[in-house]
Amino acid sequence: MIISFSDLLVVIVMLAFVWIAVDWAFSFIAERREERRLRSSTRECHLCGKRYSEEKRVKLSTCPKCSARNVRGGHRKLG
Ligand SMILES: [Zn+2]
Repeated sequence: MIISFSDLLVVIVMLAFVWIAVDWAFSFIAERREERRLRSSTRECHLCGKRYSEEKRVKLSTCPKCSARNVRGGHRKLG
């Protein structure tokens, strides 16, 4: 099998493209994961909309801004 210089160049360019695509995909996935992790560890107050961090096992947390009580998973139904 004989590989010419132009073939090699095409392979290198394709590898570069693949590398860029893979790198982009990984950063995209990492970003999404980080966002999800952040969302699961933070709570948005249903009253004033302030985002604050809370412990994972806490079912009922109190907003530090307006001291409203936010129930895990139930705040959407409350409106
Ligand atoms: Zn609040």
